[in-house]
Amino acid sequence: MAEIFYDDNADLSIIQGKKVAVVGFGSQGHAHALNLRDSGVEVRVGLREGSKSAAKAEEEGLAVGTVAEVAEWADLIMILTPDQDQRKVYSESIQPHLGEGKALAFAHGFNIRFGYIEAPAGVDVLLIAPKAPGHTVRREFVAGRGIPDIVAVEQDASGSAWDLALSYAKGIGGTRAGVIKTTFTEETETDLFGEQAVLCGGMSHLVQAGFETLTEAGYQPEIAYFEVLHELKLIVDLMHEGGIAKQRWSISDTAEYGDYVSGPRVVTEQTKADMKAILSDIQSGAFAKRFIDDQDNGAAEFKELREKEAAHPIETVGKDLRKMFAWSAQAIDSDYVEGSA
Ligand code: NDP
Ligand code: MG
Ligand code: MG
Repeated sequence: MAEIFYDDNADLSIIQGKKVAVVGFGSQGHAHALNLRDSGVEVRVGLREGSKSAAKAEEEGLAVGTVAEVAEWADLIMILTPDQDQRKVYSESIQPHLGEGKALAFAHGFNIRFGYIEAPAGVDVLLIAPKAPGHTVRREFVAGRGIPDIVAVEQDASGSAWDLALSYAKGIGGTRAGVIKTTFTEETETDLFGEQAVLCGGMSHLVQAGFETLTEAGYQPEIAYFEVLHELKLIVDLMHEGGIAKQRWSISDTAEYGDYVSGPRVVTEQTKADMKAILSDIQSGAFAKRFIDDQDNGAAEFKELREKEAAHPIETVGKDLRKMFAWSAQAIDSDYVEGSA
């Protein structure tokens, strides 16, 4: 049984007694920095020269410095730049300022798990990974709630790294919801698998294939959009509330029967074998290497795939339809510009 920690199991005064540098002010960065600040923690934001994010952080009244400046100043450095940039940011601007007794923290274990960052001995290495996009982490905190985190300690140099990790999780609101203990390896491998096979990769391509099947058979794209994309949220909301069981309880008997007999024709034994192969590529580091090698090569493959997928006809139909209908779509990411990646 997983070990779960709540507000009562965490001591906020530990993180309140530390100087915390949040490196990056994007999705996770803004949520961590603002939630910690609102929890009475002394926070500075580290950004590169000429950063677009600096104005946003300053508007919030946060102190901003270069990554090197805030890393030198801080007791705890939370790295929240994109995973592919962390190795460089770390070696150039953080490592030189990592003295004994400091702590290095992450919201995803990628760089530690695959060896792109090796923290020196004498430094605590922590993971505090909120299980939601950063904008939701901030919105829930402001509403007095929290997003569950998963936390891990890779290196406990101080002997009190766990207490520090739990205190940080309390500062961002995680212990309000509950925090699960994990390891860097478990978090990294399951996070990558979940997003690749199910949440992002599996779901996006399932929706696209369903849309293509209907439109290729001559049905109207607008109708296909509703059936395979728009209604997805309603189904997922039910699963989120009460599992697959509640979703099946709510849908019609026709839909439920169709689920049982047709679902296994889409997700077959072969699909599961392919999922196992995806997991093997994650565990072996092959996926990480492919991603980072491509990034080091100017992200040529990544950019090509992004462009190709953005041109899928479902995006054009969806863009027009969402403009024409007055259902209240609540924007999750206020920075998102329709049509941008
Ligand atoms: P973002 O892409 O939102 O981070 C962008 C921020 O990083 C911007 O402030 C950007 O500043 C800054 N940045 C980018 N490159 C550099 C650099 N070289 N030096 C300094 N600052 C830089 O990242 P996410 O929030 O998506 O991800 C951060 C971490 O959190 C990752 O480890 C990710 O796996 C993890 N995570 C993310 C989740 C999410 O909700 N997105 C969920 C859970 C974990 P600038 O204005 O200069 O470009
Ligand atoms: Mg992830
Ligand atoms: Mg229907």
